[in-house]
Amino acid sequence: MQFSTKAVHAGVEPDPSTGAIMTPIFQTSTYVQAAPGDHKGYEYSRTHNPTRTALQNALAELENGKHGLCFASGMASIDAVVKLLKPGDEVVSTNDLYGGTYRLFTKIFEPFGVKFTFVDMEDPANVAAAITPKTKLVWVETPTNPTLRIVDIAAIAKLTAGKDILLAVDNTFASPYLQNPMDLGADIVMHSVTKFLGGHSDVVMGALIVNDDDLAERLAFIQNSCGGTPGPQDCFLVLRGLKTLHLRMERHSTNGRAIAEWLVKHPKVGKVYWPGLESHVNHDVAKRQMRDFGGMMSFTIKGDEQEDAIKFLSSCELFTLAESLGGVESLMGHPASMTHASIPREVRLKSGVTDSLIRLSVGVEDAQDLIADLEQALG
Ligand SMILES: *Cc1c(COP(=O)(O)O)cnc(C)c1O
Repeated sequence: MQFSTKAVHAGVEPDPSTGAIMTPIFQTSTYVQAAPGDHKGYEYSRTHNPTRTALQNALAELENGKHGLCFASGMASIDAVVKLLKPGDEVVSTNDLYGGTYRLFTKIFEPFGVKFTFVDMEDPANVAAAITPKTKLVWVETPTNPTLRIVDIAAIAKLTAGKDILLAVDNTFASPYLQNPMDLGADIVMHSVTKFLGGHSDVVMGALIVNDDDLAERLAFIQNSCGGTPGPQDCFLVLRGLKTLHLRMERHSTNGRAIAEWLVKHPKVGKVYWPGLESHVNHDVAKRQMRDFGGMMSFTIKGDEQEDAIKFLSSCELFTLAESLGGVESLMGHPASMTHASIPREVRLKSGVTDSLIRLSVGVEDAQDLIADLEQALG
């Protein structure tokens, strides 16, 4: 079945009790039992809820996986993955990592005795060199934030295959429309559902997708034991968002291309980072593992003055200055003073996060209107 058909139909069956086409919001904490243990598969909503089940099945199908698990946020889902490990285990992770993930790894789990190594995964040889007999998890994020670097998932999967090492991919920036890490050899796909999957900037949620039955059972045990599960209202909103995922991603991608190609030609623009550009350092890998290139990009203003970036950001009218990404509306951010402010200047400069770098989450508005807004702000 093609992706568009799956996006509309995955996970959702008409409700057997009423025929309702949309899965109802099962706003209940508990379920009646005819006799102790005699129930319809639902006992308590931390463990199972029918609205959540529909969403979990939908997400599994969209990622070509067997099992889906939803969490109260993207961070809660990553937390569950690390809880598969024991003190003394080691994790090899992308260095160009979402800030919240870096904080969770180093501030929460390092004190519990899990060791994290951060390497530049653009060269898989760096991953091979970092793997030790204690490595139990490789954590990949691609495309990365905010400079849209690409990690070759299949090449990393070759390094973990046949070993007692799980390969997890944070697929938030791509969404299952642009990239399916499971098909490339990943064991776990993680999403901040908050972003493209929800798609309307109105829900915070996370998800994991896996194939292996035993791994799914261990993660479901953690999900239920630790309790970071989402409520049925939010699950419903995401089920609704998923039905247009393919349409939104197509428009994010065509708008992304129009804006990236326009930025490259603008005399005031320095570097442009968008994986769909042939000039992008990992364009070949992106072309191989992604269906299209999306609407996430970043660029610098020539001269690289923070002052120019601030002036630009406050001059935009359609692009809104805000954290987050992946909604229908265009957003922008200034990593040096927002998401990456806690990273020392010399360190962030090395990874391309310079003073004038601006990140765009290009929405689904009209491309010419968006370009006109950028044009007047650059002026
Ligand atoms: C937002 C984000 C997260 C965290 O997800 P939350 O839903 O905010 O908890 C993790 N990884 C990436 C790449 C993100 O963009």
